[in-house]
Formats: sequence, structure tokens, C-alpha cells
Amino acid sequence: MTNSVGTDGFEPGFAWPAGIRAAACFTFDVDAESAILATDPASAGRRSVISHQAYGPRTGVPRLLRVLDRTGIKGTFFVPGYTAARWPGVIRSIRDAGHEIAHHGYLHESVAGLSPEAEEQVLLRGLAALDAVVGVRPSGWRAPMWEASWSSAGLLKRHGFRYDSSLMDADCPYLLEAGDLAALVELPIHWSLDDWEPYVYLPDLSGSGVIASPVEVIDRWAVELDQMVVEGGLFVLTNHPFVSGRPSRAAGLEALIRRATAIDGLWIATCDEVARWVETLPLKPIADERPILPPD
Ligand SMILES: [Zn+2]
Repeated sequence: MTNSVGTDGFEPGFAWPAGIRAAACFTFDVDAESAILATDPASAGRRSVISHQAYGPRTGVPRLLRVLDRTGIKGTFFVPGYTAARWPGVIRSIRDAGHEIAHHGYLHESVAGLSPEAEEQVLLRGLAALDAVVGVRPSGWRAPMWEASWSSAGLLKRHGFRYDSSLMDADCPYLLEAGDLAALVELPIHWSLDDWEPYVYLPDLSGSGVIASPVEVIDRWAVELDQMVVEGGLFVLTNHPFVSGRPSRAAGLEALIRRATAIDGLWIATCDEVARWVETLPLKPIADERPILPPD
């Protein structure tokens, strides 16, 4: 049995707005304690580990908001419902600074192993938390752990979402078929543009203990940015306030943003702004299906 859907390659190029040759989204996943508690609930008893995560809302978010303010750009903040409930004032400060707030699960659950019903319950719980704390109905979702399920696109569309930002098979935005519903916009990501991998070390939880220098990390991201501009693609950078809110890393990020703002024809936008543009284009949705394993 062959799987004949989703096998078409993308055509090169992408129709950005007039005068624009590429786009960049600076995104922030405000995981705080949720990612660690989802990985190991016993972490709740580890005072120092929890403080490592609390650095995000307590110190990182205020610093990063200052960076965004100084550089004059708007970011997209993916907020787990648990983070919103635990740090309501901080999440409101993000909203009040005019940045986009998007959905990132409730307790940062990986939904890849969940039933569609269980995944829907998590989605609803996250929506309720964002509504209660900031009064926001998000238009976008990013899978916690970057682990979407085969049900995610249809579920998001059914609940009125405009875009997903969890998949890794393209350089440009595209439309993702969402069951019987209209297509969902996909804003692709990649591990090379995530701050977690080079920077995070938490004993017994994450990382190898090798912590990269911001000089090296920012240089790496700058190479990615420059080449994405050449290719006319979408550069989606993912930072976590508990990771990149630290002084040297935030300074490096600020330098990268300034580099981006100086690039002629690069559109720096929120994810929602890019998704709204993509919705205007006559793109053919990608019909992806779960691979079927060959018989023994
Ligand atoms: Zn996350």
C-alpha cells in the first residue's frame, strides 16, 4: 500500500506582500514551570529547578519586553494556560505591551500520544486560562515539545484557529489541510532556531551540561536569517524567557533583531500578521497523512 498524499514538493518562491522579499517572526514560548512539571511532576519538589524556570516570567519577560520595545518590533508569545494562571500579571504585561499571545497547551503537554478527545480537552483548558487571565482568544497554536498529533490541524480549525507553528517541512508558510474544514496556515519552525538546545542545562532533566556562548549562538542564527532572506522564506526564531531572558543572551538577541530590522525588504511581523497574509493567497493545501507502515 502506498501513501500518495502529501508527496508533492513545494515550488520555490513565495508571494510576499509588495516590496517584501522575506519575513521574520520573533517568538517566545513562555513555558516557565510547565515544561518541567510536564516532563517530571516530581520537579515540583525541587526548589532550585523551579526557580530556574521562574526566572522566565520573573526576570526574563520584563527584560525581553524592554528589548522588543527598544527595537520597535512586536513578538508572538506562546503561553501555556498553567503559566498564565501562575503568572497572571506577567502575562498581562505582555498583552499590554501590544504583543501577540498564542496558545501553547495547558501544562505543556505533548499531544502526540493523546486521543483526539483528550487533546481537545487540553486545548479547551488552555483557551479557558488565556480567556480568564488576559481575555485573549488566540488565533495561533504551537505544540508543546513541538510534538503535534495527526488530529491537531483539524482540531485547531474546528476551534477557530488561524494558524499552527509546530511543523518542520518547509522554509515558507503554507496551507495545511484540516479534515473537512478550510485549511490551516502553517508557519514552520526548526530546532536550529530554538534557544533551548544550545543553552539549557538542568541536571537529570535537560541538556548535556555544555552551555553555548551567546556569541556563537547569535552568529549561528544570523547565518540562518541571512540565508532565509536569500531564499525568500520565513525565519521563525523561538526563544524561551527563562533561557534567553538572561543578560548576555538577551543582549545577543537584541543585536540579532537590530540586524534583522536593517535588512531591506525583510518584514518583521507577528505570527498572526503573517498568517493573515497567507490566508489571502491562492495556495493549494497540503494533504498530509500519517505514514502507513509496510506489512511484515
Ligand atoms: Zn514550550
